[in-house]
Amino acid sequence: MTRHAGRHFLQIPGPTNTPLAVLAAIAKPTIDHRGPEFGLLGRSVLAGIKTIFKTSQPVVIYPASGTGAWEAALVNTLSPGDKVLMVETGWFATLWKKMAARLKLDAEFIPGDWRSGVDAGKIAARLAEDRQHHIKAVAVVHNETSTGVTSDIAAVRSSMDSVKHPALLLVDTISSLASMDYRHDEWGVDVTVAGSQKGLMLPPGLSFNALSEKARRASRTAGLPRSFWDWEDMLAANETGYFPYTPATNMLQGLQVAIDLLHAEGLDSVFDRHKRAAEAVRRAVQHWGFEIQCRNPAEYSSSLTAVIMPQGHSADRLRAEILERCNISLGNGLGPLSGKVFRIGHLGDFNDPTITATLTGIEMGLRVVGVPHRPGGAEAAVAYLAGNGPPVAQAAE
Ligand SMILES: *Cc1c(COP(=O)(O)O)cnc(C)c1O
Repeated sequence: MTRHAGRHFLQIPGPTNTPLAVLAAIAKPTIDHRGPEFGLLGRSVLAGIKTIFKTSQPVVIYPASGTGAWEAALVNTLSPGDKVLMVETGWFATLWKKMAARLKLDAEFIPGDWRSGVDAGKIAARLAEDRQHHIKAVAVVHNETSTGVTSDIAAVRSSMDSVKHPALLLVDTISSLASMDYRHDEWGVDVTVAGSQKGLMLPPGLSFNALSEKARRASRTAGLPRSFWDWEDMLAANETGYFPYTPATNMLQGLQVAIDLLHAEGLDSVFDRHKRAAEAVRRAVQHWGFEIQCRNPAEYSSSLTAVIMPQGHSADRLRAEILERCNISLGNGLGPLSGKVFRIGHLGDFNDPTITATLTGIEMGLRVVGVPHRPGGAEAAVAYLAGNGPPVAQAAE
């Protein structure tokens, strides 16, 4: 490997850039996970993380990637053969469905075009047919990271209520939590799944289940085998701030700082910062003359933009050039979108220059590789950002 001078731009939709204050907290000496100092840390992060999910109910923290929290949501609430209704929004919804099938659940997909979010009306229609209540859970992805498409979770909840169906609502917020508005309690979500390495600005390694009373009741009769993922063992130990097995102590030190940083900025300001960056990126992409994978502007993601390459040009060739030349990492196309799409991450810890530098690097790559485009996309983003903001500093919440 040759040395690249200057900083690396990690502009993939997770993992994201980690603030120095978070890295410094992680680098502090490891402490005794059964000692009094840890008890204080445990109580602090278990309480603090609830404010990010906007819940007053318990949040379970696992030393695992987001995939582990997907599994935890399923095995704690369901029994072998249970029907689960899922929606094919893209690659991550597809992976979650495959996991459900492997766990011997009867997973049913509402088909999708990988360019749209969840159609709440279709969920209502399918649930209305299910008079015997065979469907035990509806599981959807809030922000589909393979396509940059967001779904309206409040609308999914209303559709379930409109047909008075008792299924649990499970939601993956791995690439939306702490980047886009999300309300676990208000939206009546039973299990929210999240991870540390995206909007929370931590390295990979922690994942989360935010629970509801109904989800906890379901867990008492849920028949899928579980041990490591069992909520009740966790919740019993969490009462006093401890964990049933060794937690990722240093990551929790980082989490404590990340929660403080989010509140110092103010959650609404954090969401506005993401919205504004997303708009700037879309203006650049549209100026270049490229299509955005998300079809419906109302469903645009604030945390990433998936860009469709012009016919006959490889997204991977472009990404490789941009990495080599500018030290900027962009997200690849996943599954059937491989080579056809590249993804620009605009989530976590970033400012205007992070975004404009990324767009400049992309524009340079387009020139070098010879991808036909209208020059000036990065400038269009600069003009938008200059005319809209900068965000006014907010008092701490
Ligand atoms: C990143 C991501 C995942 C996978 O999380 P891992 O931490 O890689 O296991 C799942 N769902 C969504 C929406 C994601 O963005």
